[in-house]
Amino acid sequence: MSAHSYKDLDAHVRHHLECVRYGDGENVAVECTDCCEVLLDFDHPPEPVAADLSAYRGVFADGYTPEEIADVLDAISEKLGVSLHCLWEYVGEYGPAGDSDLLAVIDGEAREIPPGLHELLVEGTDDGVVDPATITDGPREEWAQGVTHSYESESTRNWAIEDRRTTRI
Ligand SMILES: [Zn+2]
Repeated sequence: MSAHSYKDLDAHVRHHLECVRYGDGENVAVECTDCCEVLLDFDHPPEPVAADLSAYRGVFADGYTPEEIADVLDAISEKLGVSLHCLWEYVGEYGPAGDSDLLAVIDGEAREIPPGLHELLVEGTDDGVVDPATITDGPREEWAQGVTHSYESESTRNWAIEDRRTTRI
């Protein structure tokens, strides 16, 4: 991928551009056929799959910090092919705080996490095999606002319903 700025893209004005798929659709790209250059490309997101997460049994038994959320949910999201997030009650001067919920995001919509995942991570029970195909519950009403008011931080795994910061980062 080579276009990252005005200058990069401007160099291809009036060139012939094509949008092409590679392999069996593993990757899609916008290319300049005059320069034989890929300007923009994305890999196909992984299909949700059942995964053995027993290595994460009880990882949140003593609670969790935003940093731990980022580490663990990054790893688990990749294994499952489903984006998992933590929705905190609010974000204050020192970061996310208050009550929190884990949620899964599918097609841009917040869903309940797969059954058994909370038990596995927090209570250390469950057999550890988690199947994203079992995610069926729709978004909870109290999430609607939070999901639209997600905030940027070092990690995109931590979201907050309310922004109580007085100085913006
Ligand atoms: Zn070009």
